[in-house]
Amino acid sequence: MEVAMVVDASVLRGSRVKQATYVWLMGLTANKGLCTYCNASPSTTLDHEDPVADNGADIWWNFLPACKPCNDWKRNRTPVEWLIDQKLHRAQPTVGFDTRRMPLLMFHGFEARTERVRREIRESGRRDWFRHHYGQARHKNKAEMLEHLDSCRKELSGYPHLPWSTPNVRTWAADVCARHICCGWRHPQARSVEAVILTDDQYSAFLKLAFAKGMSGGDFTAMLIRRALEREP
Ligand SMILES: [Zn+2]
Ligand SMILES: [Zn+2]
Repeated sequence: MEVAMVVDASVLRGSRVKQATYVWLMGLTANKGLCTYCNASPSTTLDHEDPVADNGADIWWNFLPACKPCNDWKRNRTPVEWLIDQKLHRAQPTVGFDTRRMPLLMFHGFEARTERVRREIRESGRRDWFRHHYGQARHKNKAEMLEHLDSCRKELSGYPHLPWSTPNVRTWAADVCARHICCGWRHPQARSVEAVILTDDQYSAFLKLAFAKGMSGGDFTAMLIRRALEREP
């Protein structure tokens, strides 16, 4: 106990950084918002898969969403170590490999579930989506983070598909969300105009006009096309 506290305070806790809001949202919405371990309670914490006490990284790829009771129960073990302890405990309950038996529903599929949520968290398209949409949000405390989480969940439930699973409508590198069913088109039946060819002069005039209207080039093009279509019979 004494040793653990010294290690935590001097080396490990001190190096921990506050995670950006979008990292929390990205983590807590994984596994449909449920705890990776029990798959039953809503996630409210980000568990370090490799424990901080074992030099586990304090970074998104080491996070698994968990409920508070599971996070506390797991303590400084990796999921694999926890599962081994649990198997030993089930074989020899009196030795003290673990404090209690996992319910069957939690025990079965534990490894596969952990692997699946790990893959979900590490998926780059998904991570980009959260960064693009919530990268600017900053929470001062956990209550504020949970408010962001609430609006994030509402936003996600408004899409017919998970937006990051739909194609990117822009192929060039731009650090914005351009997912088909999201910021790209906003409408599940929408189609994009493939290409518009302009001279250099026309193009810079177009950009200036769009800028003056406070619109992106794409939104401005869409507005012009819609206007033209409304005028046609
Ligand atoms: Zn749990
Ligand atoms: Zn978007």
